[in-house]
Amino acid sequence: METILGITGIAIMAFLLSLAFRKRKVVTGLSLDTVKGLLKEHVAFYRRLDENHQVAFEARVMRFLERVHITGVNTTVEDVDRVLVAAGAIIPIFAFPDWEYRNIHEVVLYPGSFNEEYSQDGNGRNILGMVGTGPMQNQMILSQENVRQGFRAGSDKHNTAIHEFVHLVDKSDGATDGLPEALIPHQYAKPWLRRIHEEMQLIKQGRSDINYYGTTNEAEFLAVVSEYFFEKPAEMEQRHPELYALLKSIFMPASVEEK
Ligand SMILES: [Zn+2]
Repeated sequence: METILGITGIAIMAFLLSLAFRKRKVVTGLSLDTVKGLLKEHVAFYRRLDENHQVAFEARVMRFLERVHITGVNTTVEDVDRVLVAAGAIIPIFAFPDWEYRNIHEVVLYPGSFNEEYSQDGNGRNILGMVGTGPMQNQMILSQENVRQGFRAGSDKHNTAIHEFVHLVDKSDGATDGLPEALIPHQYAKPWLRRIHEEMQLIKQGRSDINYYGTTNEAEFLAVVSEYFFEKPAEMEQRHPELYALLKSIFMPASVEEK
């Protein structure tokens, strides 16, 4: 009996140590200097912030990476991948200092697109990112190549990481419906939904430069225009002033100082 207890005790200790090691590895795997350097090099949103907000952004990236594991399937996860995923997570909720993603603990990166194992509708569409449901609740799956591509200069209005994290924000109230209730002030809900449907019509008529995928439903519309809003704010303000103002009221109720 004593031996069994002893063995169990050792097993528990080993398990706790492995957890501690895993946690420590996540925390110290990336120094603040590395994070700063990578943000500066790759993340335009970060470069547009003033110094104080840059410091706040770095801290939130670090905190995200302490809480969320980023793992690779058939690929090696590099520092740049960790920082880009975290940046994609923080950008949409940066104006909300207390926001924590409670609905995610792991981001899985695949080298390219994926469609077989994770296709839910079986239509063979190449998936570049998705928020897990059912047994994969609390997971996000992203294409490593697409995450990198999204942050590349000239990538235009596409950013897969931002897209998927906006879905997570949207989902946090229980419904992925294009209406993130935690962010959207009640009085904006109706004008927002009305604007979504007007713009969907324009996209369908070929009279809008917003990605056609946004016509899929309200949730995809929100995710697609959020990519545009965070990647090309000046262009969006000029081309879609009303939409821009609504998105600003959702994502930046108190203005985030820019340089
Ligand atoms: Zn989507």
